[in-house]
Amino acid sequence: MKEVVLQNRPTGAPRLDDFRLVDWQKPALSEGEILVEVHSFSLDPYMRGRMDDAKSYAAPVPLGARMEAGGVGRVIDSACEQFSIGDFVFGMTGWATHAILNAKMVRKLTLPREHLTRALGVLGMPGFTGWFGLTQHGKPKAGETLVVAAATGPVGSMVGQLAKQHGLNVIGIAGSHEKCEMAVNEFGFDHCLNHRNFETPKEIRTEIARLAPLGIDIYFENVAGHILEAVLPLMNVHGRIPVCGMISWYNAGRLGADANSSSLTAPHIWRNILVNRLSVNGFIISDHWDQFGRFLQDLEPMIDAGKLKYKEDITHGIESAPAIFIGMLDGQNQGKTIIQIDV
Ligand code: NDP
Repeated sequence: MKEVVLQNRPTGAPRLDDFRLVDWQKPALSEGEILVEVHSFSLDPYMRGRMDDAKSYAAPVPLGARMEAGGVGRVIDSACEQFSIGDFVFGMTGWATHAILNAKMVRKLTLPREHLTRALGVLGMPGFTGWFGLTQHGKPKAGETLVVAAATGPVGSMVGQLAKQHGLNVIGIAGSHEKCEMAVNEFGFDHCLNHRNFETPKEIRTEIARLAPLGIDIYFENVAGHILEAVLPLMNVHGRIPVCGMISWYNAGRLGADANSSSLTAPHIWRNILVNRLSVNGFIISDHWDQFGRFLQDLEPMIDAGKLKYKEDITHGIESAPAIFIGMLDGQNQGKTIIQIDV
């Protein structure tokens, strides 16, 4: 039984030696707990924030403790009535081959074995995030224009596909030619820009303006930085910005790498929000689990019918988790990043 623990708090981008793979000594089960053999666990951008010892919406991972993650797996021992050996479940297993979980914090899965990983992406926290942020705060209307970056990840691809279903003009932004082809050809976006082809926010803005001649009604904020700077002046009156994430700043400290060179000053941002009467709504999906059942009810049939596409990037072996996580923060993933344990 193995786990990956946090060895050092990184400054800037995490490095391989910030993590350590160690043997895990299983404690005895207490009443109400289960032992899970992990099938796979999710790697998500929010985990970078958990590596910092800074005030946030959740506590940091203590040094020497297991890295946090949602995972799916099979119950192999049970000290509670609700779960039996052999049940498949979702819970916060962490980066590990095995986990002891409190049964109250675990969800039984009815997904077929070959689709268990859906509970980590398209039918899990990231898919739910895209659905919630778009419908609740984006309030899409047919004929409008939406921009979303990290377009082929589990959040962005959900947002873009649902926006298309609502009849919007959808512009994705992604980090490679292949990702842009995926956004258009597989996820059905109208357009996709490779942000690596542009030097400055102004250049990105010029290209988006060409693809959005009527302006932008919804900017689904996943990345901030240059892309926010490019998009903000193009927002229409009564536009909406669901603020979901700002990954371009996660490795660069709270103010972002571009803090001194950017035109994103508070007066500039505030003036844009006021003049255009923008609705800017930050949200953290863990505040909204009460709506998860409705999300599954709406979306599961669409996935089964192939009306919503998803892409998973699965790597085998717990020892690869640190490198894959570091790569994901830098855009090397093609879809939802997952580590599968070979048992
Ligand atoms: P992804 O699987 O899409 O992975 C992250 C992607 O971010 C990378 O692949 C890369 O895509 C892109 N990226 C990284 N750095 C930059 C940069 N400097 N500029 C532009 N793009 C960059 O992530 P998710 O779909 O899981 O998450 C998307 C966002 O949603 C994240 O910000 C995440 O923190 C946030 N989130 C927020 C939640 C909430 O409760 N508010 C819950 C879940 C996610 P590319 O190569 O295409 O640029």
